[in-house]
Amino acid sequence: MRIGVMGGTFDPIHHGHLVAASEVAHEFSLDTVIFVPTGRPWQKAHRGVSEAEDRYLMTVVATAADPRFTVSRVDVDRPGPTYTADTLRDLSVALGPDAELFFITGADALADILGWDRTDEVVALAHLIGVTRPGHALVDPGFAPGRVTLIEVPALAISSSDVRRRVADGAPISYLVPAGVESYIAKRALYREESGDISSQGI
Ligand code: NAP
Repeated sequence: MRIGVMGGTFDPIHHGHLVAASEVAHEFSLDTVIFVPTGRPWQKAHRGVSEAEDRYLMTVVATAADPRFTVSRVDVDRPGPTYTADTLRDLSVALGPDAELFFITGADALADILGWDRTDEVVALAHLIGVTRPGHALVDPGFAPGRVTLIEVPALAISSSDVRRRVADGAPISYLVPAGVESYIAKRALYREESGDISSQGI
């Protein structure tokens, strides 16, 4: 089984993420893509990140209609900061030796992973695919030749930060995120304030 592992904060998930997963699934002949929302992103102290449960549920709503996509709670449920080495190790144990893993994430985030924590373990556990938006240079991090691929995905012109900003400004987000995610954001009153700690909003 060739399995994509789509890691991201998904605050919120948008159509760029879904197109990127679909493109990579096609390019790499993946059988399935598991979306893995982060638990507590350790490097995001500079801004409040929405509750993991909200980000997880939005990801479930966004992917529900596509039979190729599933969502894992592996990072949401693991206590402490999220590290990709832990994500891949936990999934690898759960899926067994026949699973070949392809870790997909933003190219910027991938550069961080390769610069930080347990790089050797990450590279040993998965092929790494960095997806990037138009206008961003595709710079190969130079690690692990043959194990890292960078792909430009035009739909990634959509960004989570822009969606959050638009909600805060009262601008429409229709067609940038799936309709169910738009409804969820409204129902939970997410992103009404663009900066500061938004994790305490909602109920
Ligand atoms: P981020 O810094 O919030 O994102 C960096 C850029 O990548 C943003 O432009 C973001 O756009 C984009 N991006 C993030 N995930 C994406 C995805 N799945 N598909 C397409 N674009 C994506 O990164 P993050 O969300 O915190 O982390 C991404 C993944 O890397 C997570 O699985 C995280 O756990 C992992 N990570 C691990 C380490 C480590 O182990 N040391 C360090 C950093 C990140 P949007 O905002 O539009 O998504």
